Amino acid sequence: MFEDRTKKRTELGELGEFGLIDYLTRDIVYKNESTIKGVGDDAAVINNANINTLVSTDLLVEGIHFDLSYSPLKHLGYKAAVVNFSDIIAMNGTPRQLVVGIAVSNRYSVEALDELYNGIKLACDKYKVDLVGGDTTSSISGLFISLTIIGEAATEEITYRNGAKEGNLLCVSGNLGGAYMGLLLLEREKEVYKANPASQPELEGYDYILQRQLKPEARIDIIKLLKEKNIKPTSMIDISDGLASEILHICKQSDKGCNLYEEKIPIDATTILLAEEFKIIPTIAALSGGEDYELLFTIEQSDFEIVKSLEDIHIIGHITDKNSGANLITSSGAAIPLKAQGWDALKENE
Ligand code: ADP
Ligand code: MG
Repeated sequence: MFEDRTKKRTELGELGEFGLIDYLTRDIVYKNESTIKGVGDDAAVINNANINTLVSTDLLVEGIHFDLSYSPLKHLGYKAAVVNFSDIIAMNGTPRQLVVGIAVSNRYSVEALDELYNGIKLACDKYKVDLVGGDTTSSISGLFISLTIIGEAATEEITYRNGAKEGNLLCVSGNLGGAYMGLLLLEREKEVYKANPASQPELEGYDYILQRQLKPEARIDIIKLLKEKNIKPTSMIDISDGLASEILHICKQSDKGCNLYEEKIPIDATTILLAEEFKIIPTIAALSGGEDYELLFTIEQSDFEIVKSLEDIHIIGHITDKNSGANLITSSGAAIPLKAQGWDALKENE
């Protein structure tokens, strides 16, 4: 993962607002033709000609959305940016330009903010996004980060949440529940550390799970793969809140029901092991955990033959009529109505 941050500390006051902006944006190189003007003027200029512009914003508040005691600033910047890009990707679009607003207290040094920006810039480089502007202000306490991603998609490419049709196959990329288990692991080690600061965190062997929580990726590779195979999802959403909640969004907005098969839900072996350690049913981690940032989408049945052979895409169920409801078909064959919080339903059925 990322290297340690530097020990040097420069107070924000030494640079001042403009000095800080110059410093944080000193090495930005623009990658997209549509970026006409980036940082430095009163507004960025983007020329998307006659293609659709997609816009999405995230606002992150210290203590609510992130905890710096276990998330290094570079990871935080990387994750915040990637999660923001994921919203454009879930529309089947391409993220292009990012605008970053920060409000920061003097508890933070210039070096700390540089770490945050290093994470944001790393994500921008990886996903070929241009950081074109932002705003910088002070806060009385803590750190606030606002990210606005601008993307593009041709009209016929855009996938909405409301396009699922009866008989469509329900698909998901990657595996689920890992990010949640990573969070539980970090929280456990934080408690151990609080009780005994001399203790060493026991995080060895859990790299994959920690990465799922601290350094997630947005599945731009999946939408590229589907395009390559000439498959356009009929609906799509990214998994930020957990599989159950996202499926319910698609069903509600499409006015449909679904059958989701428990045994088809992809869960990594390390997630299962850790879930057992925490006495959590792995299916529940997948259904309710969230933050996996995988893609959930529906496809036409006629695309089955192609999709079933695609790496890292799993068919987990199908869309039904609205009156059948949204159901989880358990491994034992019982149908349980899906809830945004899958916990209760599954516990009753243990
Ligand atoms: P204004 O006073 O017009 O709001 P600013 O001094 O806030 O202008 O910003 C100057 C330039 O620096 C603008 O192009 C703005 O988009 C950019 N900028 C300001 N803060 C940030 C930031 N935190 N990250 C990236 N760019 C920023
Ligand atoms: Mg400003």
